[in-house]
Amino acid sequence: MVKKCVDCTDEAKYKIKDTSEYYCKECAEEHFADLSLLISVEEEAQRLKEYIKEKLEINETLKNESNDNFRED
Ligand SMILES: [Zn+2]
Repeated sequence: MVKKCVDCTDEAKYKIKDTSEYYCKECAEEHFADLSLLISVEEEAQRLKEYIKEKLEINETLKNESNDNFRED
């Protein structure tokens, strides 16, 4: 899923925090002198991946626990 820059439709590398506006590096630098206002799309994708992984691990743990309980019963 490639995000497009809202300005020039190039591939977006940055997203403005708390919005769904995406910018490529050039437009981001042009519009925002301070890139710390932006988060990188990669960073966000990575965070999402971590979040999903965590969820899966929790589900695994719960599944294993209920299996243990079932065996004990
Ligand atoms: Zn752009």
